[in-house]
Amino acid sequence: MNESDSERIAGLLAAAGARLADRPEDSQVTIVNTCAVRGKSEEKLFSYLGRLRSLKKKTGLVIVLAGCVAQLHQDRILDRNPDVDFILGPDNYHRLPELLERRLGQPRVLTAWSKDWREDERRLSLRRSPVSAFVTVMEGCDNFCAYCIVPFTRGREKFRPLRAVLDEVRVLAGEGYKEIQFLGQNVNSYRDPDTGAGFRDLLMAADEVEGIEWIRFITSHPKNFGPDIAEAMARSRHVCRQIHMPLQSGSSAVLERMKRGYSREDYLEKIRVLRSLMPGICLSTDIIVGFPGETESEFSETLGALDEIRFANIFSFRYSPRPRTSAVKLKDDVPFGVKRRRLMDVQQAQKTIQTRLHEGFIGRTIRVLCLGKSKKDERVFSGRSEGYQVVNFRSETDVIGRFVPVRITACGPYSLRGELAESP
Ligand code: SAH
Ligand code: SF4
Repeated sequence: MNESDSERIAGLLAAAGARLADRPEDSQVTIVNTCAVRGKSEEKLFSYLGRLRSLKKKTGLVIVLAGCVAQLHQDRILDRNPDVDFILGPDNYHRLPELLERRLGQPRVLTAWSKDWREDERRLSLRRSPVSAFVTVMEGCDNFCAYCIVPFTRGREKFRPLRAVLDEVRVLAGEGYKEIQFLGQNVNSYRDPDTGAGFRDLLMAADEVEGIEWIRFITSHPKNFGPDIAEAMARSRHVCRQIHMPLQSGSSAVLERMKRGYSREDYLEKIRVLRSLMPGICLSTDIIVGFPGETESEFSETLGALDEIRFANIFSFRYSPRPRTSAVKLKDDVPFGVKRRRLMDVQQAQKTIQTRLHEGFIGRTIRVLCLGKSKKDERVFSGRSEGYQVVNFRSETDVIGRFVPVRITACGPYSLRGELAESP
C-alpha cells in the first residue's frame, strides 16, 4: 500500500511540474513515506531524518513526512524534528502540490481523514513498473486486531466505486499492463458504495477486461474470506492461483487474544476449500511470534501449522507493542531473546519447506511474466510465476513485459532459476 501511495504522490507532483530525483542530495523536496506497523521502522525513520537534517543545512531541502507515522504522531514530530517542513497523513496527499507551491504561511500538519473515497488524482500515478500495476480498491480498516495500529493511522474502511476500479483496469490494459494487483487492508470486505457488489463481483468483472492476463489481490483477511471468493477465483480465466492470507498464529488461543475472529480450524478449512477448488494454488501468509502471553506450546502450534499447510512464502515478525492498540495494555512478557529465537525457528522451518517445494519445480517448464532484468548481467531477466515465485532466467533477447516459458534448472529457498524453454 505504501509503495502504491508513493507512486501516487510522485504522479501528483509530476502533474504539477516536478521531476523525480534519484537521491535526496539531488532534490529540492524529499518526501519520506512512512510505515507505522512495527516499532522498528519508526526507529529507522528517526535516524534517516537526522541524515536529511544535515543535508537541509547545506541545500535548504524541504522535508515532508508522509504516511502512517506522520498520522500517528502528528505535530509531536515537530518538537523533536523541527526541520521537518510538512506532516501529511495518508488521506492528505492530494494537498501536496498546493502546499509546496505556497509554502510559507501554510499549515504544516495535515492529518484530517475524509469519510468518503477521493477519486480525482488516482489516474496520475507515476508507476514504477510498465508491466504490473497496483489498483487500490479500499483503504482503512475496521477490524482492530489487538496488535495492529492500522485502524488508527488509516482510519475506517472506505471503498472505491466499482466503476472507477474497472475504468482504471481498462486504462491499464490499454497502456499494455499485463498484471494488476488489487490492494486494500482487507479486500474481502469490499462493497461497492454505489451498488453493494462484493469482492467476488469485482474479481469477476475484472476478469472480463481484455489484455489483463494476471489478477492478484492483497490482503485477504481469513475472517471475511468466504467460499464465494474461492469459487470466483476457480471459475475465472485470469485470477492467479495464488493467495496471501495472513494466519498470524497457529494457536486458536493466541488468535482469540489477537481478536482475529477465526480459529486455527477455521483457517485450515478455508485452505482445504481453496486447494480442493484449485489444486496447486500457492499460499503465502504473515506470522507474528511472541504475542503477549504466547507460551512455548502455543508457539509450537504455529510451527505445526507451517508444516501442515506448507506455504509457498511467509512474512514473519516479532511482536512489537504499538501505541493505541488494545494489546499495548497487555504485558509484553515474551522476552526479546525468546522472540528472536522463535522468529529464527519459524524462518528456518519455512526455509526448509520452501527449498523442498522449489526442488519439485526442477526440470519443469513454467509460465513466467518477465518484470525486469538483472543490474549485474544484461542477459539475466527476472519475473514471477503465477504462484508469485521469483524466477531468474537467461535470455539473449529482451523479454520484459512478456509471458515466457522457463525451464527450471536450479533453485534456492527464495527463488527459482532457469532458461528460456524456446525462443520467444
Ligand atoms: N491487513 C493485513 C495486515 C496489515 S499489517 C491483514 O490483516 O492481514 C501487515 C502485517 O504486519 C500483519 O499481517 C502482521 O503480521 C504484521 N504486524 C502488524 N502489527 C504488528 C505488530 N504490532 N507487531 C508485529 N507484527 C505486526
Ligand atoms: Fe491490522 Fe487486522 Fe486491519 Fe489487518 S485486519 S490492517 S492486521 S487491524
